[in-house]
Amino acid sequence: MTTALTHLSRALTGVLADAARESGHRIDTNTAPAGLEWPADVLAASPNRHTILQVAQPAANSEAIRAQTAQALQHGLDIVWFTPEAHAPPWLPRVPAVRVTAPARPGEEWTAQAAVQRLTADACTCGPAWGHGAHRAWAPPEPVPLAAMLADLLAGRLVHATVQPELPGRRFTAWARNQDVRAEADHLRTLAADTRDLTDAAKSSTPYIPLPEGRSAAPLGRLLEAARRWARHKTGVVCHIETASADWMAGGLVVTPSSRPPDSALPPVTALVRPLPHIADWTSELSTIPVLVGSPEEYFSLRRTAPAAAQILIL
Ligand SMILES: [Zn+2]
Repeated sequence: MTTALTHLSRALTGVLADAARESGHRIDTNTAPAGLEWPADVLAASPNRHTILQVAQPAANSEAIRAQTAQALQHGLDIVWFTPEAHAPPWLPRVPAVRVTAPARPGEEWTAQAAVQRLTADACTCGPAWGHGAHRAWAPPEPVPLAAMLADLLAGRLVHATVQPELPGRRFTAWARNQDVRAEADHLRTLAADTRDLTDAAKSSTPYIPLPEGRSAAPLGRLLEAARRWARHKTGVVCHIETASADWMAGGLVVTPSSRPPDSALPPVTALVRPLPHIADWTSELSTIPVLVGSPEEYFSLRRTAPAAAQILIL
């Protein structure tokens, strides 16, 4: 551990303890809670919740952090990890965690980086074939003052993505407010209500590949970029996107390997982006090709008529 980072970690522990105390919590520092064999940096207690605020060691390993998280939860303790490192460590999205930045000048506040996501509502621009009402989506995570975030965390007003049940289209990856999480769940349930066969296979077929931090683009541009990245990952070769020519493609866009030797085992069509729901014929090849869409609204429009085995992915 470098001296500078040691100093920063110590300062951060003090800031967390002070902020927790100011929000009305009883504080223990550097004490092992009952049942745990490692000391909690800060244990913040209110009458109905006990929350460990733990500053991760620089270069801490993911396995150890996940194991400690599981131990705390088994003992009925909430736990939130904090890191003052300049770059997000690999474990950051996998446990309840916050990356923080020290104030640039004395007297200024610590900031929680890329921390809280807001649920947005936008009018549908998919076109008449899709017939959606509003689209609801998660805005990219925003930085917030650490003390304010901690008060919300300790009061149970924030939910972390890792403790959410899987729902098709769930897209938030950091922290979100309770009311936004409930609003999204209601919205997804409404979208799914018209879908007769929302099978377990369909629920599990929605992996979300997050865009790099801070990236955003127009909906179709974002989807096409995500589709190219998804196809590259799936096939191992660079893929590009073409306009569809065959009837079974239902006006979608074709994702295809950019170069494919004559003896290649790769199929010519890797995936189809956004076939139109009103002309999609699921008795054709369409049912055997992964279909890529950009929102839960599009997902449910297609899911309504697709066979259960059809692979529809939200990117
Ligand atoms: Zn739409």
